[in-house]
Amino acid sequence: MQRVYFDNSATTPIDDRVLERMLPYLKENFGNASSIHRYGQKARVALTEAREKIASVLNATPAEIIFTSGGTESDNLALKGLAYPETKRRHIITSAVEHHAVLNTCKYLEKKGFRVTYLPVDQTGMVDPEVVQRNISDDTFLISIMHANNEVGTINPIAEIGELARAHKILFHCDAVQTFGKIPVDVKFLKVDLLSISGHKIYGPKGSGALYVRKGILLEKLNHGGHHEYNRRAGTENIPAIVGFGEAAMICQQEMKADYEKVKSLRDELFQRIQSVIPDVFLNGHPEKRLPGHLNLAFKGIEGEALLLSLDFKGVAASSGSACTSGATEPSHVLLAMGTAPFLAQSSIRFTLGRQNTTEDINYALEVIPEVVARLRKISPFN
Ligand SMILES: *Cc1c(COP(=O)(O)O)cnc(C)c1O
Repeated sequence: MQRVYFDNSATTPIDDRVLERMLPYLKENFGNASSIHRYGQKARVALTEAREKIASVLNATPAEIIFTSGGTESDNLALKGLAYPETKRRHIITSAVEHHAVLNTCKYLEKKGFRVTYLPVDQTGMVDPEVVQRNISDDTFLISIMHANNEVGTINPIAEIGELARAHKILFHCDAVQTFGKIPVDVKFLKVDLLSISGHKIYGPKGSGALYVRKGILLEKLNHGGHHEYNRRAGTENIPAIVGFGEAAMICQQEMKADYEKVKSLRDELFQRIQSVIPDVFLNGHPEKRLPGHLNLAFKGIEGEALLLSLDFKGVAASSGSACTSGATEPSHVLLAMGTAPFLAQSSIRFTLGRQNTTEDINYALEVIPEVVARLRKISPFN
């Protein structure tokens, strides 16, 4: 059976070039980067080179990059790391559509005595800088807003929010896990103080990620131990993963334009062909200001979970909501925050295309989707 992978926002397949780069560090170059001998030196050189690559892609300096185990840890490190040294102010601003790595860290901080405002978004899932402005108080010390949403792909006006944060002397963190490698992510242009990224969303290995922390910012540690990562994140560095992450970021940077055009045109073709043969299909997310691979659609009258299972049975892999919450039957917090009616939110599924997808994938999906939708609509109690 043919198989098509349309869940690139949950994770991506590792690029062959990335894997090739990693293999020596899983075999002969196994050294600990803290060791003095030549095994250690080899690992240390690789670590330095990867750090330089990530820094250059972000327009940061190497000393501003902390390698972590991924986006979740980066988000935790940013928010808790800033909250603990803060002694006077107690207010955090974030949005209602953040990834759970940010939302649940904020919930935790609320229990620890911080006050959190979860900003509403518009119908497309976008945060309005004016709404941010209105919610700033003397007590606000941190704003955390994602660059693009993982469920619908809507891209936020981060530079404008960064400008506001800076004018009010408030620290600004951005979860850029979904945008990094796909559209330009320049920490200076975006005016961010901290920024989270992850390797496995960009054709790199799982368990790799980084947090950009602008020079001079005080951050409490989560991990105590050795003096790794400029004494900000203890633990022997995962050199193979870090090497892979650095390589994946370089490839994304070099091929960004071509990948963007290719992925977007496949995505647009998928949408246009679905719309032309299936009635009552609605797009969730911003029609233009959206990541190139995202296609989140509501198929009126069908249970999203049922649709996913039927599609998977026919070899088409998509998802509902975020990967981390699938299995739960509650409608997506993102779609609800956008004001999507609950019955449409329940009928929504997300296709996210990536570099490896082809026109054949689209053709195969179009053989499968209309038939599955028609069958499910026929047996649906809603129709
Ligand atoms: C995937 C994702 C994360 C979590 O990253 P991991 O590396 O899987 O821990 C955080 N934020 C967003 C927006 C994501 O899409």
